[in-house]
Amino acid sequence: MKIVLASNNAKKLKELDAILAPLGWKLIPQGLLGVAEAEEPHPTFVENALAKARHAARMTGLPALADDSGLCVEALGGAPGVQSARYAQTAAGEPKSDARNNDKLLAALDGIAHRAAHFVSVIVFVRHADDPQPLIAEGEWHGEILRTAQGDGGFGYDPLFFVQEFDCTAAELDPATKNAVSHRGQALHSLLARLRR
Ligand code: IMP
Repeated sequence: MKIVLASNNAKKLKELDAILAPLGWKLIPQGLLGVAEAEEPHPTFVENALAKARHAARMTGLPALADDSGLCVEALGGAPGVQSARYAQTAAGEPKSDARNNDKLLAALDGIAHRAAHFVSVIVFVRHADDPQPLIAEGEWHGEILRTAQGDGGFGYDPLFFVQEFDCTAAELDPATKNAVSHRGQALHSLLARLRR
């Protein structure tokens, strides 16, 4: 079965392909089908993932898979949340920067002792654009925000995200371990279980 993936991120494609392979799906990144990125204007991950999936399905006529993810910091009321990718952006069109996002996060938490945070991933599957019953899977990965960056693997907020279970940051974990335990890994495995049912 051909499925359109509402993302052009090669890393995501690889990770999704590996986990969903047992279903015999062929995932096609939306860019290859001439679909431009959808807006992500909503205040929740699930609404944004659903909007992306419906957009890709509507533009292609294929079933669609989309995800939305981000970091929620307790002391900041859940920020940066759905703004995670653009947290430090001050003007529309300004390029996204992990380094500036991390600096802004450290500044926002300056002097704050409570550093609990979690990553969230929501993955949505729609059979068609107007599917009234999308499949929605969610994963959460809990940790703490350090005061200085550690490690150079991963991406985004990984160098600041300390994981107690492994006694290191997400940027210091090997990719296979991260994929197995992360918010995205959890959401994907839960989606796979639901699809099999
Ligand atoms: P999106 O889901 O591709 O829009 O990503 C949202 C943003 O959340 C990313 O640009 C990162 O800043 C952050 N993020 C999501 N997942 C991770 C992760 O596994 N590690 C580090 N940052 C992440």
